[in-house]
Amino acid sequence: MRIVIGGMNHESNTFNPIITGADDFVVFYGEEMLTRGRTPSYASTGIITALEEGACDIVPTVLARAVPNGVVSAAFYRHLKAEWIKRIQEALTLGPVHGVCLALHGSMKVEALGCAEGDLLMAVRELLPDVPCTVALDMHATITPALLRCVDGFTAYKTAPHIDCQETGAHAARMLLHSLHTGKKLHTAYRRIPMLIAGEKSESEAEPMRSLIEACRGVEMQPGIEAASLLLGFPWADDEHNGVSVLVTSLAAGETGEKSADALAASFWARRHDFVFRSEWYDPRQSLEYAYQGVLEKKERPVFISDSGDNPTAGATGDGTELLERILETMDQAAQLPTPLLYSGFYDAPAVAACIKAGTGAVLDITIGGNWDQVNGKKIPLQVTVQKVARNFGPLQSDLVLVSHENLLITLTSKHIGFGDAALLPSLGINPGDYCLVVVKLGYLEPCFRTIADRAILATTKGCSHELLETIPYKKVRRPLYPLDPDLVFSVGT
Ligand SMILES: [Zn+2]
Repeated sequence: MRIVIGGMNHESNTFNPIITGADDFVVFYGEEMLTRGRTPSYASTGIITALEEGACDIVPTVLARAVPNGVVSAAFYRHLKAEWIKRIQEALTLGPVHGVCLALHGSMKVEALGCAEGDLLMAVRELLPDVPCTVALDMHATITPALLRCVDGFTAYKTAPHIDCQETGAHAARMLLHSLHTGKKLHTAYRRIPMLIAGEKSESEAEPMRSLIEACRGVEMQPGIEAASLLLGFPWADDEHNGVSVLVTSLAAGETGEKSADALAASFWARRHDFVFRSEWYDPRQSLEYAYQGVLEKKERPVFISDSGDNPTAGATGDGTELLERILETMDQAAQLPTPLLYSGFYDAPAVAACIKAGTGAVLDITIGGNWDQVNGKKIPLQVTVQKVARNFGPLQSDLVLVSHENLLITLTSKHIGFGDAALLPSLGINPGDYCLVVVKLGYLEPCFRTIADRAILATTKGCSHELLETIPYKKVRRPLYPLDPDLVFSVGT
């Protein structure tokens, strides 16, 4: 069997003014996908492994991945798409292709085009109209009519934070092979639930997601069912298709898949009021007050504050300054902390360049933040001392700088890479567990922070990933939509 594979992974935040381009993506072309691109945490790696186990002849196209950010450059997307198409055309000149299995995010948007995955799949379908196609999606995928038209079988991550990516890829590949080996066509039942939901209210270890995911696993045990998935959409995209989706893929059409999709959708809707923040949450001012109190009076350490409204891993700019401004207003309390207040951090290429030019140990005046998000932040002038520099960090080769200002330590990045990577702080010589108060531009804490946090506070700062969805000025989402319309009456099938 010859199977076309590929991957495209980006979550596009339409409130972020940054246009995500070539410098923000890591791309593996053709055979590179099978070697350098074979990273354990990727869904595409699961696809490759399962197809190899199935003795398939793999046709690799393109694997393109970027940290969530603003919408993707149309020119760069056209380049990626051309590379995909070229490789499929080349493969077809060498012989027949029997199937397609792709690892996609599902919420990638291109400037002036919209849904990237739908556009790409339509182009793939022009070349391969009749072969089965399965996809492994992110749990935060947005399902569009184009995706439903082009794809036969869907599966998606069942964990958030996402720790089952490889397993999900393998699932998509096995589903494709079942269809090819049995000669039965895959059929997907789809239900839309008119609801927006923040990731911080829908972690898979917490209720109600834990039970709802268990229900999906139960459906997957039924004869003939290949996959049952809950797709939560991505609330920081103002898009007419946004919402929660249920997808149940069966081998051959039948009542079981349809009824299961109905039941899962009804269960989800019935529990809509149960989606709440897992950690304590306050506005920025209160968050700081409780954190200082926790450290200074209750001896809690480390206390973590998530600067959740400006979470780059949810596509925010990473340069919002609301919380930094509050901290600078409370420097008398920060001064009492037994260790510096650690803030990780800010995406600020000009500040990083200035610090690197000045060198370690230099004292200089810079501005922090406000390069991109000038609605929820501004350039904050600060005199800093450059404590440490680390060059070419991670796959995007970002430069990192650690600066100090009085009893603050702040990390700065030259690229939009986010602050959830467990290796980022250690590369600057920092062990976050040594600090009593750590502020991170994240929503829910990644496992590397959660395991050491004595207390976790979610600060509902303003920014491109503002957690209070009811206050976001959406223009394009289809109304009515819960919780924007809290009294919405909905029943599955209507
Ligand atoms: Zn996700």
